[in-house]
Amino acid sequence: MTEALQFDTFFLPGPTEVPSDVLAAMSRPMMPHRGAEFESLFARIQSGLQFVFRTRRPVYVSSSSATGLMEAAVRCAPPGPVLALVNGAFSARFAAIARACDRDTQVLEVPPGSVHEHSAIDEALAARTFAAMTVVHSETSTGALADIATLARIAHAHETIILVDSVSGVGGALVETDEWDLDFVLTGSQKALALPPGLSFAVASESYVRHARVSSARGVYFDVVEMEEFAKKNQTPSTPAISLLYAADVQLERVRAEGMEVRWARHQGMRDSVIRWTIECQNAGLAVAILAPEDARSPTVSAITLPVRISGDMIANKVAERGFVVGNGYGALKDRTFRIGHMGEHRPEGLARCLDACGWALAECSRV
Ligand SMILES: *Cc1c(COP(=O)(O)O)cnc(C)c1O
Repeated sequence: MTEALQFDTFFLPGPTEVPSDVLAAMSRPMMPHRGAEFESLFARIQSGLQFVFRTRRPVYVSSSSATGLMEAAVRCAPPGPVLALVNGAFSARFAAIARACDRDTQVLEVPPGSVHEHSAIDEALAARTFAAMTVVHSETSTGALADIATLARIAHAHETIILVDSVSGVGGALVETDEWDLDFVLTGSQKALALPPGLSFAVASESYVRHARVSSARGVYFDVVEMEEFAKKNQTPSTPAISLLYAADVQLERVRAEGMEVRWARHQGMRDSVIRWTIECQNAGLAVAILAPEDARSPTVSAITLPVRISGDMIANKVAERGFVVGNGYGALKDRTFRIGHMGEHRPEGLARCLDACGWALAECSRV
């Protein structure tokens, strides 16, 4: 057997580190996916996911990566134009998905790292009728956090529904699906929920599903109406990734035991550690900074801008010499930034050791 790695070494912004008991759960034998045993497994997962999403609605469990449910969100949305808020690589992907699903898609773009002015969104929605607006809650490519509670209110004032990609949000950043009246909110297993990749989860509002029922272009695999009908019976439309559901069963119990408020506070604490570390680096004469503005920083992921001669790859490779994994930049920010994923089951103590390694790597790379 290979020696188990010490936890708190793998700080990629997805997939993130998975606890060993969760990995071990996946070696359980198969069960039939039509039957009472499966239904009780699904019911437990369902209840755990409702706890995480803060909803009384059914939570869909899709055996796909999160991109699949991004497509479902757009495909089953009421007919009409889509306003896509773009501020980084994943929100650009949401816009591209809307276009690929033949939606008349208008992009409202701000530079990567920033978030949209609420007044600009309000104006765009007033100027034209949009059926839906897409937004990424926590832009994993930049570390910027959108205020989706307020965005939902703005969208609804214009009778536009809001489709939220909270892939690196749910489970780490505050999300109140029911209270905020989110029409569709989705996440992936491999980010703040600290599960292996391969599952994604979503909640749709009752009115979203009502509209979807009369749409004829829902397709098959990502048909939200089917997902709704089956989830209500504690089933899935087709064979689910059963081993991953075993993992979710174990991990959702851990999340429930911690409690959402404590979990959100732990993530904010990790974000604040990264901010303090960046200031210490600046005081030591290193030209680094957090990319996202002070009032819009994700609790789960930070993108840090680098001095001109140092690339994201250089830092990631150097940090690896100390046994830690961090992310290089993503998309257009590949060279200019590196990223730390501080989500899932990571703790401030473990993150502190990773930040020490990042500080060392920065100093080493600055020397040459
Ligand atoms: C990771 C991520 C995705 C893509 O998820 P997949 O599981 O790779 O399909 C989409 N949006 C955001 C914000 C992400 O962080």
